[in-house]
Amino acid sequence: MRPEFAASWQRAAAGEELDREDIVNLLAAAPGEEEEALYRLADGVRARMAGDEVHLRGVIEFSNYCRRRCCYCGLRADNARLHRYRLMPEDIVAVARQGVELGYGTIVLQSGEDPWYTAPVLAGIVREIKKMGVAVTLCVGERPREEYALWREAGADRYLLKHETANEELYARLHPGMSWQERLQCLQWLRELGYQVGSGNIIGLPGQTLADLADDLLLLRQLDVEMAGLGPFIPHPATPLAGEPAGSLELTYRVVATARLVIPFAHLPATTAVGTLAPNGRQKALQRGANVIMPNLTPTRYRADYQIYPNKICINEGPEDCRYCLEGMVRALGRRLGRGPGHTLKPIPA
Ligand code: SAH
Repeated sequence: MRPEFAASWQRAAAGEELDREDIVNLLAAAPGEEEEALYRLADGVRARMAGDEVHLRGVIEFSNYCRRRCCYCGLRADNARLHRYRLMPEDIVAVARQGVELGYGTIVLQSGEDPWYTAPVLAGIVREIKKMGVAVTLCVGERPREEYALWREAGADRYLLKHETANEELYARLHPGMSWQERLQCLQWLRELGYQVGSGNIIGLPGQTLADLADDLLLLRQLDVEMAGLGPFIPHPATPLAGEPAGSLELTYRVVATARLVIPFAHLPATTAVGTLAPNGRQKALQRGANVIMPNLTPTRYRADYQIYPNKICINEGPEDCRYCLEGMVRALGRRLGRGPGHTLKPIPA
């Protein structure tokens, strides 16, 4: 082990607060001994903080219309080749019911930024799903504070809005017409409104450095997030980043493992993007710090059109397939399915 890695690993093992240099040292773990030590430590912290339960959050991708032009995303408004779809409110509620019957304790409603769903329409959907006794997470992008407030009043428990990258300049390049400050403002509002907040970033974006990724983890710590989605960049052919290389799977594992050390109480999903890059990717992530999986509940006929990146897994499966496949995966790892909503892991303040 190189001395600088060993020193930062020791500090992490002693539960000390890691600074930017420590985080860079951990993210730079070399294959072999260093990576193994990092993964072992992260898996131990996961076991202590989150236990052996793996929470399943059923995701409904209810619309692929999007007004944004994010340079990495296949749903971007400029992608004229994409067949666009919208699920009607009653259909979204029916799919959610299917998810509840499959035993999911959380329903996640995700879409492109689609103004067709006005705040009252989404509030109505949230209210119907809340009657089923599950947690509801929204992931529909940037909206005015009043709209977030309305959904919170309707019973929404959590909100997922990834900051995507903590490097403001890189953010500006990848998000034409958007502002990093505004995204942070949205995260602040969500916090003030009492949501359990999820954020996160993309790993392996063109031009991104290890120091940028360290800043991502420091920002997540500063935001005190309840959840962090950390997934590799996967180039989509119908975007300006089509020719760029994908993010590295190994780097993604190192980011997930280091995140478990920097924000030990956060729920960390083994992302679908990791599963897309490697058939056993999600299993490995679960053994290196992750404790959540987000199975797809979207009706099969729409799945192929919700390709934020290409070759997304499970586009030919149905909701039940994903439910039972994942239960098998979790059991094979010696873990068990979470029960109930799987709310925040943070200690309740005295
Ligand atoms: N419109 C919503 C949901 C976006 S899709 C919002 O703004 O929050 C969910 C996530 O997919 C995004 O936050 C982004 O991090 C990720 N994503 C999109 N395209 C991607 C790509 N090509 N590779 C990896 N992740 C991608």
